[in-house]
Amino acid sequence: MSRVFDGSPASEGIGSGRVRLVHWSIPTVPHEMVEPAGVEAEVDRFHDAREAVRERLVELKDQTEELLGPVEARIFDPQLLMLDDVEVVNGTVRYIVENRLTAPRAFDWRMIELQALWRRTNHPMVLDRLNDVEDLQIRLLNRLMGHPDPFEPSPHDGRLVIVARNVSPTMTVQMDPAQIAGICTDLGTRTSHWAILARSRHIPAVVGLGNFFRHATEGQEAIVDGRIGRVVLDPDEADRRVFRARLERLRLWEEEVEAIAELDSVTADEHPVALRANIDLPVEADNARRHGAEGVGLLRTEFLVVGRNTMPDEEEQYESYRRVAEVFRGQPVYIRLFDLGGDKFPIFLNLPSEENPFLGWRAVRVLLDQPELFRTQLRAVLRATAHGDVRIMVPLVNDVDEIRQVRTLLEEEEEQLRKDGIPYNSGYKLGVMIETPAAALDAAELARHSDFFSIGTNDLVQYTLAVDRTNARLAKLFNPFHPSVVRQIHQVSRVARAAGIELSVCGEMAATALGAYLLLGLDISTLSVAWPSIPEVKKVLREVRAEDARQAARRALAAPTARDVTECLASAMAGSVDLAAYRGRWELELPY
Ligand code: PEP
Ligand code: MG
Repeated sequence: MSRVFDGSPASEGIGSGRVRLVHWSIPTVPHEMVEPAGVEAEVDRFHDAREAVRERLVELKDQTEELLGPVEARIFDPQLLMLDDVEVVNGTVRYIVENRLTAPRAFDWRMIELQALWRRTNHPMVLDRLNDVEDLQIRLLNRLMGHPDPFEPSPHDGRLVIVARNVSPTMTVQMDPAQIAGICTDLGTRTSHWAILARSRHIPAVVGLGNFFRHATEGQEAIVDGRIGRVVLDPDEADRRVFRARLERLRLWEEEVEAIAELDSVTADEHPVALRANIDLPVEADNARRHGAEGVGLLRTEFLVVGRNTMPDEEEQYESYRRVAEVFRGQPVYIRLFDLGGDKFPIFLNLPSEENPFLGWRAVRVLLDQPELFRTQLRAVLRATAHGDVRIMVPLVNDVDEIRQVRTLLEEEEEQLRKDGIPYNSGYKLGVMIETPAAALDAAELARHSDFFSIGTNDLVQYTLAVDRTNARLAKLFNPFHPSVVRQIHQVSRVARAAGIELSVCGEMAATALGAYLLLGLDISTLSVAWPSIPEVKKVLREVRAEDARQAARRALAAPTARDVTECLASAMAGSVDLAAYRGRWELELPY
């Protein structure tokens, strides 16, 4: 009998194949010693294994650079650096020479020791580093112990569904999309670095499946539906029929995407709505354009730094931002300054742990406290303004002082660029994200200091409803249609209109049919959504009338509960849109 498991959708697409359980974990190393005469050979064995692993990592790095670009290829750098780390290498050699341990045992010991040291700081940035360390440990220990790489599928294996507790970015780039039908993990989120890579490689993925790894067995048939975050084990004939139908619908949809991209983004009563893309990595810009994005409404720059050992320098950042600006020449590109903290910490920020990271040192707070890190980014973004309509967006602003301070730093960097004779466009726009109730309530004041607003509903919902956006147990409570959220959006819309500044919404809410309709009705004519959703949102907008949306929004504003809000919107849309055909947490009929 088939069994259905629900997780979170992390990478679009649907696939089916045979389960390959990947134990991407550190092997058990027996405690063995070598004879004194064998010590030298054992040290050589360690260095030979390091060399072999280095060759493989460099090969993977080159492949990644070819496939995805130089920025993405840098995910291998921390492991390559660690291979030569003196603490790692000298410590291991010492255990071989002084304690006469075998190379795998000595390396294992040294890593346990170093990890205990690093773990003691108990901080997310260290945990990031530990992931890289673990990846390297797995590769090197398997090599030293003569085991095959736990993740090197052979082409004879057929279509595979990778099932693991979690996977690493380096594993993801090792996967051939022609062979890997999907990835299912117990842990991880949509913004895990590997999930972002899976999206850019078009490998379907479902994350956050809890205990799925324990339920799956090697070779079992599985369907991975990355559109709705569902996995079906041992599908029966009815499931297979649904799968084939959905696959066909998806294929037709992909053909339609090209056609929709060419269409104007206007409502049935000719009201234009600008649809921009949210992108996490520069490599996604081309896909966004192909899906019909009219610019980038949110470039999440922190994905250039998370999981890395060092801050990308000005040149590297500038190249990344320029690449996106050039893909969208003539259209706006909103570059959001690093939104670090919360669940996104780079390795190089050496920080103590916090009890409540989402209420802690995050986003603009980090930026203003670490002006040196920040100045590098400001210079890189300013330089990118010379290559397109680049706008600068500040995350998690609560009051005008923060935006004033950012502006001062920008002016100082502009002065320096002028002195250095480096070109930039002095007419760039600077705006803020409205992501907290404080910002929404104080929008009129913020509007006096901002060229634009962008409402980040993901955080606005989290902070308004006191619901951690990453907590799967609370997913049902995370509802952007809660009246308190709807009223804040309405208030910000009125303020922006009165102040004559641009307003967009870039949270996930804008990517749902009901959400887009409500926002349209609240007089918001610019939406920024994850690029795969652009054609769907455009299709919805082309089928509805702005005037009807306004009336529905007026009724929604008077509705007492989230359920009443969604019912009111759904009934207003029912005549013009086939809601069941659209994806979205609040509107989808699950098919399997
Ligand atoms: C948001 O908070 O809605 C947003 C778009 O920013 P992020 O999801 O990156 O926090
Ligand atoms: Mg946010």
